[in-house]
Parts: sequence; structure tokens; C-alpha cells
Amino acid sequence: MIGSGILKGMAVTLRNFAGSYFDKERLITVQYPEERNPLPENYRNFPFLIYDGDDPHAGLRCVACQICEKECPPQCIYIIKSKDKKPDYVGKPQFYPAVFDIDISVCMSCQICVEVCPFEAIKMDKDFELSQRERFNHLLLRKEQLSKSNHYYHKIHPVEAGAVDKNLADAAAAAEAKKKAAAEAAAKAAAAKAATPNPEAPRQSEAATGVPGSTSAPGQTPPETTKP
Ligand code: SF4
Ligand code: SF4
Repeated sequence: MIGSGILKGMAVTLRNFAGSYFDKERLITVQYPEERNPLPENYRNFPFLIYDGDDPHAGLRCVACQICEKECPPQCIYIIKSKDKKPDYVGKPQFYPAVFDIDISVCMSCQICVEVCPFEAIKMDKDFELSQRERFNHLLLRKEQLSKSNHYYHKIHPVEAGAVDKNLADAAAAAEAKKKAAAEAAAKAAAAKAATPNPEAPRQSEAATGVPGSTSAPGQTPPETTKP
């Protein structure tokens, strides 16, 4: 029958309208901006940089390797590497970005920068209220605007951030264990070397004293031999 689809649709609308007075789940209109729907865990918008602790400079994970800059398809990341170094999360001295800009008017939210970063330093944000009156400078986000704490990352992506923290803790523990094993191996090798007698030592003494079998050190008087 012509128009039956429209009637079915109207019936659904009517059922929801009447039902919304009794069941809150049927209220499908959200009074934005006072009310907001929760965003799903995997929602993403534009990238941001993560820092650990309270200091955005000291805790910044980015080591300015520039992999993300090279891999970004629309080339909207711009990095200048620092001249000096600062310790990373395992205490290793690393460079950091003196300049790190992302032009979000060009960024296409592809997340490739996140996928290629070996340091878990760049992640996708959920902030979508970014409209500006000015087209260029205001949409060019600087390092200071891009830097956000690990605490913020946990707030917006709790599951992912938990997994990242575990990976970093495992990597730090593995690095520490490797360092400890290397130090122990070096100490053992030094002890073994000290305990082994030097086979060259008697020959060096003979050469120095001219007396076969002499164990005197060079420059010392050899012990007197008993005459038959
Ligand atoms: S999300 Fe994609 S386009 Fe945006 S900065 Fe990262 S790599 Fe570039
Ligand atoms: S965000 Fe990651 S990939 Fe990009 S420069 Fe920093 S450490 Fe390298």
C-alpha cells in the first residue's frame, strides 16, 4: 500500500514520544552543550603529546625522532630537534622537540603518527570543540597547547592508557634488568681476570733478571742460589 512506510515511521515516532514520558532511554534528544553524550573509548579527533608527571618539559615523552613528521600523509607536523638532551622515562639522555607544531586545519585524524611513534609519545585526543574565528594561526597548535598529562590520557582513553603504562613499565624493567646483568657480567669477568695467574709473569722476571726460574720483579735483586 502506498504510504505504509510513512505510517510505520510515524508509529515509531509516536511510540517513542509517548514512551519518553515514562522511560528515560527513549529520550533521544540531548540538550547540548548543557548535556553531552559520553564519547566511546576509541573516538579520536586530533593528536596531542603526552608528558609524565607534572612538568610538561621534563616529562615530555617525545624524543624528536621525527618519524611522525615524515609519515604524516598531509605533512601537517613540523618539528625542530633540540640541541641539548634530557633524560627519558628510563633515564637515558634523549633529544626533545624544541618546536612541535600540528596544523589541525590540515590534519585528517588518520592516527598514523600515533601508530608509528616508538615512544608512546603522541596519542589521539577527544576534544572536538575547537572552532576558531581565525583560519590560520589559531588552528596551528604549538607544543605548549599539544602537551597534555598522562593523567588526562587516562581520563579520555582509560583502557588504552592502562595498556600503554604497562608496556612502558615492562620496557623500563627490561632495560633495568639488562643493565644489572651487564654490570654483574663485567664484575665477574674482572674478578676472574684478577684470580687467574699471569703465565707471562715468570718469563718477564727471567728476562729482567737473567736468572732462569727467577720470580723477582724487574729491578729487584734475585735471591741467592745455593752452590753445590
Ligand atoms: S592524525 Fe594523521 S594527518 Fe593528523 S597529524 Fe597524525 S599522521 Fe598527520
Ligand atoms: S611524537 Fe613520537 S614519532 Fe613523533 S617525533 Fe616524537 S617520539 Fe618521534
